[in-house]
Amino acid sequence: MTASDLASLIGNTPLLKLRNLSEQTGCDIYGKCEFMNPGGSVKDRTALGLIRAAVASGDLQQGGTIVEGTAGNTGIGLTILANSMGFSTRIVMPMNQSREKLEQLELLGAELELVQATAFDDPNHYVHRARAIADKLNEENPGSAFWTGQFNNTANRDIHYETTGQEIWQQLDGKIDGFICAVGTGGTIAGVSRALREKNPDVRIGLADPMGSALYHYFKEGELLFEGSSIAEGIGISHITDNLAGTDIDFPVQIADEEALPLIYDLLAKEGICLGASSAINMAGALRMAESMGPGHTIVTVLCDYGTRYQSKVYNPVFLKSKGLPLPSWL
Ligand code: PMP
Repeated sequence: MTASDLASLIGNTPLLKLRNLSEQTGCDIYGKCEFMNPGGSVKDRTALGLIRAAVASGDLQQGGTIVEGTAGNTGIGLTILANSMGFSTRIVMPMNQSREKLEQLELLGAELELVQATAFDDPNHYVHRARAIADKLNEENPGSAFWTGQFNNTANRDIHYETTGQEIWQQLDGKIDGFICAVGTGGTIAGVSRALREKNPDVRIGLADPMGSALYHYFKEGELLFEGSSIAEGIGISHITDNLAGTDIDFPVQIADEEALPLIYDLLAKEGICLGASSAINMAGALRMAESMGPGHTIVTVLCDYGTRYQSKVYNPVFLKSKGLPLPSWL
């Protein structure tokens, strides 16, 4: 296989059978290996979708600056694509995200701005700050910048509809009963569910919601309410994004870090794959879905990014102990 550029390395990731979870439930549980994308996460797809749509509409011009507010992974995807396509990036991130993601963004050449982690209605929230930076750049030099706005820009869910969802259907020859994942922007769940349900309306769609996120109560009882907190980065929100709007969820579950983290520690120890905490929430959701459906079903979830991106947190016994969370037995 040859590839002509970075963009063509994005997607077409394998589906890995999760051996332990499958044996435990009598189901076939698969994880989509999104950590194998060139930027190391599922968000490379989003970055590509956002850039392609902005170039096509003329909003992003050659040599322009891409501005985005991100928990990190979208920024990484945007920056490597920008490097490869002749753009530059200005990335705004809340300062409570992992050190590894900040360092990687700097290494890649992004211009990085860290802001306090505040509520979404605060004008200094990273999303609003990114938009304000793009507006200012465009005031100074019209057409020089584009705010990709991954939460409400539906080019995000569209690329998951066109790629992730179609790939899963083809990889399983349509033999799929359920799909479940967490929501950051909602791009993955919205795009994949649309693709799968178009082929088979009976595919069940689950939401694995971490503590501290308001979506579980929204899909269960219609109210945006949250309790607790999670160390999982990039997932969990308190409002309905344009990407998520209209997605029909029929199996919402709430997952605590205490339930989820042992699954990725076990996966590393017994199946050799080192993943981040959002993948742990997803795996716990897939386990709950398999238990509720019973043996003989095929369920897919997303393995979002590598655990090395969170070595200082998810694989750091001092950090984990400070939060009262389970530890990997060998650390
Ligand atoms: N896991 C991680 C680590 C992420 O960074 C993100 C995106 N913020 C997600 C999961 C969720 O994906 P989506 O934005 O498509 O809902």
